[in-house]
Amino acid sequence: MNYGQHPGWIEVISGVMFSGKSEELIRRVRRAIIARRRVQVFKSHLDARYAGLYSVSSHDGTELEATPVDSAAEIFRMIRPGVQLVAIDEAQFLDPDIVSVATVLASRGVRVILAGADTDFRGEPFGSMGDLMAVAELVDKLQAICVVCGDPACRNQRLLDGKPARYDSPTIMVGGRESYEARCRHCHKVPRKDEDQTRLL
Ligand code: ADP
Ligand code: ZN
Repeated sequence: MNYGQHPGWIEVISGVMFSGKSEELIRRVRRAIIARRRVQVFKSHLDARYAGLYSVSSHDGTELEATPVDSAAEIFRMIRPGVQLVAIDEAQFLDPDIVSVATVLASRGVRVILAGADTDFRGEPFGSMGDLMAVAELVDKLQAICVVCGDPACRNQRLLDGKPARYDSPTIMVGGRESYEARCRHCHKVPRKDEDQTRLL
């Protein structure tokens, strides 16, 4: 894919879980590989989904090899000379340096694709995704399907033991008895302390 005459720009693929971010990232990377571009794929170590740490996998089972990283600086250190495309999955888990890493790579002529959840389970901006969307040339905001009503879904519903997780539960819980559903704004529930008290009246 070409964006302008100069190589080097930033693409963001954002959206909730199940919205097809990994599918879209994999599709773009595969096409670049067919075009014989030099490609490197990374993903945040924090994503243990399917325990497939050395691959980017989508919920429909397609996979791509990826190098797990803990920090944005680690990505920068591992960049090989002459790389033309750098793809990063689960970018919401990376530290804020990811914005400057993406910017420097793009200015050096690298096509940078970042996929990540733009909102956390509370419906609030997640990590540096908002900043990445601001500095990117191209942004896609994908939607899943709300499992409650069938509308387009823009929120991640976190369930703990099958019940909506409260607002003050930690943003990132690795392991545990939690699960996630795609839901629309109206079916998304995040109980807060004051609401709990109202219910008791
Ligand atoms: P993401 O990376 O955004 O989590 P994936 O690319 O891994 O998304 O998975 C997208 C796939 O998930 C869809 O193509 C579909 O097969 C499946 N899927 C499961 N539940 C849903 C849902 N509620 N809405 C849309 N797709 C869903
Ligand atoms: Zn809904």
